[in-house]
Amino acid sequence: MAELPRRADIVVVGAGIVGCSIAAELSRVGITDVVVCDQGPLPVTGGSTSHAPGLVFQTNPSKTMCELAQRSVARYTELGAFLGVGGIEVAASPERHQELKRRHGLATSWGLESELLTPEQVAERIPLLDPSRIHAGYHVPSDGVARGVDACAALARESRARFVGETAVTGIDVAGGRVRAVETSAGRIETDLIVVAAGIWGPLVGRMAGIQVPLYPVEHQLVWTTPVVELAGEEDDVVRHPILRHQDSCMYFRQRGERYGVGSYQHRPLLVDPDEIPSHADAPVMPTMLTFTPEDFEPAWRDAVALLPPLGQTEPAEAMNAMFSFTPDGNPLLGETEVAGLWLAEAVWVTHGPGVGWAVAEWIATGSPPLDLRECDVNRFEAHVSTPAYVRARAATAYDEVYDIIHPLQPMEEPRPIRVSPFYARQQELDAVFLEANGWERPHWYEANASLVEGEPEGRDPWASRYWSPIVAAEALATRERGGLFDMTSLKRAEVTGPGALGFLQRLTTNELDRQPGYVTYALMLDERGGILSDVTVARLGETRFQLGLNGPRDVAYLRRQAPPDVHVADTTGGTCCIGLWGPLARDVLQPLTHDDVSHEGFGFFRARELFVREVPVTTLRLSYVGELGWELYAPAEFGRRLWDTLWEPAQEHGLVAAGRGAFNAMRLEKGYRSWGTDMWSEHDPYEAGLGFAVRPDKGDFVGREALGGRGEPSRRLVPLTLDRVVMGKEPVWANGEPVGFTTSADWAHSLGTGIAYAWLPAELAGEGQAVEVEYFHERYPASVAPDPPFDPEMKRMRR
Ligand SMILES: Cc1cc2nc3c(=O)[nH]c(=O)nc-3n(C[C@H](O)[C@H](O)[C@H](O)COP(=O)(O)OP(=O)(O)OC[C@H]3O[C@@H](n4cnc5c(N)ncnc54)[C@H](O)[C@@H]3O)c2cc1C
Repeated sequence: MAELPRRADIVVVGAGIVGCSIAAELSRVGITDVVVCDQGPLPVTGGSTSHAPGLVFQTNPSKTMCELAQRSVARYTELGAFLGVGGIEVAASPERHQELKRRHGLATSWGLESELLTPEQVAERIPLLDPSRIHAGYHVPSDGVARGVDACAALARESRARFVGETAVTGIDVAGGRVRAVETSAGRIETDLIVVAAGIWGPLVGRMAGIQVPLYPVEHQLVWTTPVVELAGEEDDVVRHPILRHQDSCMYFRQRGERYGVGSYQHRPLLVDPDEIPSHADAPVMPTMLTFTPEDFEPAWRDAVALLPPLGQTEPAEAMNAMFSFTPDGNPLLGETEVAGLWLAEAVWVTHGPGVGWAVAEWIATGSPPLDLRECDVNRFEAHVSTPAYVRARAATAYDEVYDIIHPLQPMEEPRPIRVSPFYARQQELDAVFLEANGWERPHWYEANASLVEGEPEGRDPWASRYWSPIVAAEALATRERGGLFDMTSLKRAEVTGPGALGFLQRLTTNELDRQPGYVTYALMLDERGGILSDVTVARLGETRFQLGLNGPRDVAYLRRQAPPDVHVADTTGGTCCIGLWGPLARDVLQPLTHDDVSHEGFGFFRARELFVREVPVTTLRLSYVGELGWELYAPAEFGRRLWDTLWEPAQEHGLVAAGRGAFNAMRLEKGYRSWGTDMWSEHDPYEAGLGFAVRPDKGDFVGREALGGRGEPSRRLVPLTLDRVVMGKEPVWANGEPVGFTTSADWAHSLGTGIAYAWLPAELAGEGQAVEVEYFHERYPASVAPDPPFDPEMKRMRR
C-alpha cells in the first residue's frame, strides 16, 4: 500500500477525468501540495472514465456548458488525447429537424462553428448511414472523441500532485463546520480542503462529511460490435467517421477501427442505489460495470441497424450496462458545500472534464470561478432537491429525457406539487395553469380570465405558443388598465439582522444602503472581478434589520458564508408569502383596507412599511417589477389565505384580475427590468448590463469596486430589440452578415404591440435604431435596437 503524507494542502478524492484534470490545473496555478487518492488502480481505476467511449458533442443550451466543452476539446488536443473527427446529429422526424435548426442557432450564439447538412451530405461523411432514414443532419466540425484514460495518464504526468492508487477514502473529519482531515485505508491526511471528484460514489463520500450529494448512479448500455465488413483493415484505434447521434431513437455511435460502438438511452431508467455499487473485490470486471441486460438493448439494436444497415452483419462483441451520474437538472455539482473546505466536482461528463478541472482549480486559487457557474453551483438547489427520494425520481426522468426535445418553458412533470403558496387553493378555483420553478407551483395564467381575451395572438408560431395562452395577453393588458394580483411567493428572500448588518451589506453590495429605516434600495452583489453575482432589493426595516429580495439559495449560501458573527442571515421564503398588488387602481383597493396613509405623499415610491391589511400584518414595499403603481405585500404564511381573500373582493369590484407569470414576464420586459440569471450573470459588469445606476463607487469599499474602477466605456451592451415575432431567447443576432451577439429574454410586449427581446451586442451596434437580424429556426428576421426602457421611460405610472 502507498505511503501517504501526514498533511496536504488539498486532497482530491478520485482519479477519473475530473480528479486528474483538477490536479493538473492546480499545479498550473502553483498549488502543488496535493494528494489524489483513488480506491482503484491507476490509471484505469474502474470508474466511469475507464470505459467511456469518449464522444464529445459540444452543443449545449447552456453557454457555460458549451464553453466548458470547448475548453475541454482544446485541452484534450494539447494532451494528444483527442480525435477531431467532427460530430453529426441526425433528424429522423420533422420535429427533430426543427430542433437541429435550433441547436445550430444555439451553437452560433455561443461561438461554436456548425452547419446543417442534407441527408446525402451526412452519408458522404458516414458511408454506413442510410440517408433515406433521415431528414437532415447537424454538423460540428470540432466535435470528436476524447481518449479519457490516456488523458488521465497524461494529466497525472503533467501534474505535480502525488497520486496514490488502491487507497480508499474511508472518512472525513469535520470539526466546527470545517474539514480537518481525511481518513484513508492507508492512514490519515490532515488537510483544510477536500475536492470530491468521486463520480457515482459522490453521495457516499459526501455522507462521510454529513452532506447530501444530489446525484444518482444510472446504468447505461454500450455495445461494441464485431468487425464491420465495410471497415475491414482499419487499425484498432483509427477513427475516421464523425461521431453520430440519433436522438429520435435515443442512441449514439462511434467508430473504433473496424468496429462500431453503439450507446443507448432508449431503455427504462435502471437506477442503482449508491449503497449497492459493487466493490472492486465483488465486481465482475470493474465496479461501474454491471451485467449486460440484452432484452433492454433489443429495440435499440433494431433502430441502429435501420440507420446503419451494415451493422446488421455484426453482433455485439463487448456489451455492458455501465454506470454514471445523473443530477436533478442534468448539470454538474461544483463548488464549496456548506461544510467549509469540502468541495464537489461531481456529475461531470468526459466532454466537460478538463474544462471543469480548469474552472474548479481557478476557483480554489482565486476565490471566484473564472467563468459563470450559476447553473453548476452546488448551492443552486432548494433543500428538497437533495433528498434521496427527489434525486432518485429526477435522475430517472433526466435519463429518460437526455435526448428529448425540451422546450425552454417545459416544467418537470414529477414529483409535483412540492411547494405551494397559501393562495394555491384559491388559484385552483380560478383554474390556474401552473408551471414549476424551484419546486414552487406558479400560475402562468388563469383560465377564469378566458372571457377577457380579445382578438388573435400576434407574432407567435406553434413553438412560441407552447406553455402560453392568449389569456396571458389579456391579463397583461388588464393589469396595465386596472390592475392585477400576482403571487410572488416564490421570490427568494432573507432577513439579515444584527449589529453588524448594515456594514456587512454595505460591503457586499454596490448601492448606498445607509439610509433611514423605511427606504428600499436596488443593489447588486458583485464578485471580485466586478461581475454580477446577483441583484438584490434591500428594504431597511429597522436600524439593524433588513429584508432582502434575492435570486435563489445560492445567494443565501453566499450571504451566510460571508456573514461575520454579529450578523444573522435567515431564509424567510417558506415562512412568508407575497402578493404583488399592481396597477393604476391598486391604491383604490389597498387604502380602504388599512388605517395607514398609502397615498403617494404618505407612502412614497421605493419605501417600505409594516402595516395591517385588515387583520393581517404585512411588510409592504412600494415597488413593482411590472412597472405599475403598487406594492409587494409580504405576510407570514399562515395569514396568506386571509390576505388573498381580503384583497380579492375589492380587487374584483375594481376590475383587477388574478394575473400569472406569463403576464408578469412580458410586462417586466417591456418595462426594461432585467432578470438576473437570464439577462445578465457574473460574466457581465453593471455598466454593460445597463445597471450602472445601482453602483455608488463613492459610498466606500465594496466587493468588486476595485475591479470596476479602471473600466472605460463598455465594449458590449445589453439592449432591447423589437421585432415582429416572439422568439424564445438564446437566439443569435446578426449584423452585416456576421453573428454579433445573442438574445436573452424574449416575449411579446402587449402594451407596445411588438415582439421584444433583450440581447447582448457589441457597443458599436447597440445604439438606438440600429438594424440587426435575429435568427430563429435558421431564418433571419429584421429587428432594431429600441429605447431602453421601451415602455414608460419617464416612470410616470409607478410614481403617482
Ligand atoms: C457506458 C458509458 C458511456 C459514456 N459515454 C460518454 C461519452 O461518450 N461522452 C461523455 O462525455 N461522457 C460519457 N460517459 C460519462 C462519463 O464517463 C462520466 O461522466 C465521467 O467519466 C465521470 O468522470 P469522473 O472523474 O467524475 O468519475 P470516475 O471516472 O468514475 O472517477 C471517480 C473516481 O473516484 C474514485 N473513488 C470513488 N470513491 C472513492 C473513495 N472513497 N476513495 C478513493 N477513491 C474513490 C473511483 O475509484 C473513481 O476512479 C459515459 C459513461 C458510461 C458509463
